[in-house]
Amino acid sequence: MPQIGINIKEATIQKREVIVGIDLGTTNSLVAVMQDGQPAALSGKQSGTIVPSVIHFAQDGRILVGDEAKNFLIEDPEHTIFSVKRLMGRSYNDIRNEQQHFGYRIIDENTEGLVKIQVNDTFHSPIGLSALILKELRLRAEEQLGMEIHKAVITVPAYFNDAQRQATRDAGKLAGLDVLRIVNEPTAASLAYGLGRKQETAETIAVYDLGGGTFDISILRIEDGVFEVLSTNGDTYLGGDDFDRAITGHWLSLAGKTTVDVSRHELQELRLLAEQAKKHLSTADDFSGEAAGLTLSLSRTVFEELIQPLVDKTLASCRQALKDAGLKAEDIDQVVMVGGSTRTPLVKSSVATLFGQEVHDELDPDEVVALGAAIQADILAGNQTDMLLLDITPLSLGIETMGGLMDVIIPRNSKVPTSAGRQYTTSVDGQANLKVSVFQGERDLVRDNRKLAEFILSGIPGMPAGLPKVEIQFILNADGILQVKAKELRSGVEQSIEVQPQYGLSEEEMAKMLLESVKHAQEDMATRAVVEARVEAQNMLDTAERFLQKNSNRLNEDEIAGTRKLMEELRDIQEGDDKDLIHSRIEALNDFTRPFAERIMDHAISEAMKGKML
Ligand code: ADP
Ligand code: MG
Repeated sequence: MPQIGINIKEATIQKREVIVGIDLGTTNSLVAVMQDGQPAALSGKQSGTIVPSVIHFAQDGRILVGDEAKNFLIEDPEHTIFSVKRLMGRSYNDIRNEQQHFGYRIIDENTEGLVKIQVNDTFHSPIGLSALILKELRLRAEEQLGMEIHKAVITVPAYFNDAQRQATRDAGKLAGLDVLRIVNEPTAASLAYGLGRKQETAETIAVYDLGGGTFDISILRIEDGVFEVLSTNGDTYLGGDDFDRAITGHWLSLAGKTTVDVSRHELQELRLLAEQAKKHLSTADDFSGEAAGLTLSLSRTVFEELIQPLVDKTLASCRQALKDAGLKAEDIDQVVMVGGSTRTPLVKSSVATLFGQEVHDELDPDEVVALGAAIQADILAGNQTDMLLLDITPLSLGIETMGGLMDVIIPRNSKVPTSAGRQYTTSVDGQANLKVSVFQGERDLVRDNRKLAEFILSGIPGMPAGLPKVEIQFILNADGILQVKAKELRSGVEQSIEVQPQYGLSEEEMAKMLLESVKHAQEDMATRAVVEARVEAQNMLDTAERFLQKNSNRLNEDEIAGTRKLMEELRDIQEGDDKDLIHSRIEALNDFTRPFAERIMDHAISEAMKGKML
């Protein structure tokens, strides 16, 4: 997904305005701001900077957010919402197979629309729930800074699609925040470490992010201030919570029990103690404690045995990400560690071994994304003039043209923001409506790409085919949100839409689309050539037919009969797969008709031969 372009000239923000950076995480969220030239995470009146991304709807109608809400996760799961980030911008169909991971009710009425969550008798959208977390963060910042906060930069995973980004932006709006930029988490983490500041040299960076419930590896390339995501991989259901579960399971089995033998309350106690043990073992060799009436202990050695398979899984993802980026471990210049779970020494050492180098862990891994967001915010506020960040769009954007071909308007890897346009024309006489179908992807046939939107340009005044001039304009803003405009230039009729897909593309789908396009490139090129030849043949036949009808009185019998015969021969093989044969018959027809066509050249026909048809 597109990373964020920051256009310094565009940022006309007055001095003294504070823009905060927000890491809206699956497990934990934070807000940070630039203070005396350094980014700092804010705590408000609370003791810590971390706000658990948990919301509890209490019996008395109060809504608790953060640490207080977290206490109800196991005691009252039906009224306690966690991991809402997993639902952002997604439809019921998207998350159908993940339902068992949520303790609360997800509504399945409209399977294509955005999901809703039921708590008691009310329905909540993931956007509204995320807004509650954002509001809590805003209040903390306001408390600590003693001023109102209205502007923010919010981070999202690199693989978030349009719909998920748009949903995050909307959540900000609901929380009273003008979201100036949506920024990729790995980009923010790299920024926090000051990577990409040396504009002369390109650097390749691996960002390893192991949080509470998700794992992401991103390979980035930074050159001339452009952050490009070369590849992403990961596991949306692997994180520190799995470490806690492994410990809990170990303790239960030592006691000769399973999770069904203990009460909810006891299980919660055990999970909390397991997390405590895990954190303790990040700096110590042994842990002991009590929970659920049991005296429990854990050594670092046993803990590492328990989590080894989980760590190995993340390493496999790293290798795949390298492979997808066409790189080897030694091509990576820097490795950045993100997420609370990278504090576990086994995680750190395993990643260092894989990449054959020391990893960056100087900054607090919980805070690093928020700190980077604060730096982005500061750049936006115009306070850091030596930085220019540009981002790129990872998939091509285009429209469907005749024969179901993908006509790319903004190619993959274009720097955003960007805009591009092209002219098209109609294929039928008197055509009043023109359908514009917008697609995303790398394949030559639109049926292999992803449809983003469709609209109809209507009210085109009656004209012969080929005469209308329809300008299609794509405008891609810095957040990767696309606006499409269509205008018939002769009449001035116009139509435009903002592309906001109902539900999005998952990380896997995106990777798959890119992979498929490479795999099928050869095949696609051949198919495209045949389809193009067929379309050209049809255009030629239509043009010739119109020509004959309009000019029968100006042509002699031989000319008419000869043209008809060649048309017939072209029609016979038009739908075949032999593009060379199609081309040679088009040529034959063309050569035969050229002398007399030139003689009585019809303006509309000459126009019809120009321009692509939709
Ligand atoms: P997310 O990005 O998913 O919101 P975080 O980056 O905040 O998540 O990571 C949360 C995870 O980090 C939790 O599983 C937590 O137990 C774990 N964690 C926090 N501190 C430590 C520590 N000192 N040692 C090991 N794991 C830790
Ligand atoms: Mg995170």
